[in-house]
Amino acid sequence: MAVLKLFSIFCVLFVSFVSAGKHDIYSGYTAHGVKLTTQSHLQLLAELSESLNLDEWQHGAVGQRDALYMVSPENKAKFLEELEKNSVENYLHLEDVATALEEHDAVIARYQQSRSSRMVFENYPRYAEVDAYLERIAAEYPDIVTLVNAGSSFENRAIKYLKISTTNFTDTSKPIYYMDAMIHSREWVTTPVALYSIHRLVEDLREQDRDLLETIDWIIHPIVNPDGYEYTHTNVRLWRRTRSYYPEISETCWGIDANRNFDVSFNTVGVSSNPCSDVYPGHEPFSEVESRIVRDIIQEHLDRMQLYMNIHSHGNWVLYGFGNASLPANVAQIHHVGATMGAEMDAVKLPEAGYYLVGNSALILYATSGSAQDYGQDVGVPFSYTLELPGYGQDFRVPPQYIDHINAETWRGLAATARLARVYYNARNAN
Ligand code: ZN
Repeated sequence: MAVLKLFSIFCVLFVSFVSAGKHDIYSGYTAHGVKLTTQSHLQLLAELSESLNLDEWQHGAVGQRDALYMVSPENKAKFLEELEKNSVENYLHLEDVATALEEHDAVIARYQQSRSSRMVFENYPRYAEVDAYLERIAAEYPDIVTLVNAGSSFENRAIKYLKISTTNFTDTSKPIYYMDAMIHSREWVTTPVALYSIHRLVEDLREQDRDLLETIDWIIHPIVNPDGYEYTHTNVRLWRRTRSYYPEISETCWGIDANRNFDVSFNTVGVSSNPCSDVYPGHEPFSEVESRIVRDIIQEHLDRMQLYMNIHSHGNWVLYGFGNASLPANVAQIHHVGATMGAEMDAVKLPEAGYYLVGNSALILYATSGSAQDYGQDVGVPFSYTLELPGYGQDFRVPPQYIDHINAETWRGLAATARLARVYYNARNAN
């Protein structure tokens, strides 16, 4: 008995020791806010990102929004020295990333204990919980919901999405709205938004939203990158990429940035040739099954797909193509719909959130290539966006208490884009 008791104590100690050190790989890492006052600052930070292997947590906009970078203990002195040399104002955002992540885990644990039953979209659900939700919705609402298993991730997880339609996708006069989330696996708050959108269309359809269900077909894809997402829960909280492995290219670094892996201006700007970089685009376009699945959904429904929303976190942005600063022919319409979305969400924003900024991703941020947003636009989806949800100054550690608000606020924005894009769709088809 005594032996058993001792063993239990040992187990408890061991478990608490393991969980206390869960984020040890970030021990000594710092995060810094950087004020950008000229375009040359953006250029400098892009160079430092590459040479000092910075982890960019938030895109900055000159004169409008600070950039946020995580820096390793080895590179910190050099980073600060370069900023000082170039008179770039900056401040310490997090003194120790490991401690901050451990505190965030504790916040989540307390939140989860505070209410016994919580809907899957009011929380940060694991892959299996999301999967169970999709299966349940499809089983309970067979008249309007079709579950699609699009294939397996690199690590063999099923990648599923829902088709939501009152006419089983057979009424070709309806536009299709496609939204996806969690292409970048550390952006945890994105999946709840996708799940809540399902909830509002299927389980909690309100009278004022009936038109959205009846006149639009929806494709909602809550986890594009399930391997990366699970890895952020089990191993490395700030993992952004897929979990593919190509030892012939790199024996030490796994994964690529799926949002640089699309076949549009592939591997030209805003990428790194270093296979360990968080913006490494892969050795060829669509090397990743996760980006191929997004491509295939877009291609399968291209004739009617009116809007594609690729959801990220964080920074309060509604962005559109192209990543090389050239503009789509219908940019005025794209801006109209995007700006309306921003205004709808701003109208109910919390005081601690910034206002949404809306514009071409290259002109208001910096150049990128191979993004999902650009791919959708390039192949012919009239309205293709990158949405960056609010971070409330807490980067990827959005406290779960904010999830309900983000869900409701974002649904308001998504609904507005759906209605406006529908107006443009009907106008085009009438001609
Ligand atoms: Zn992202």
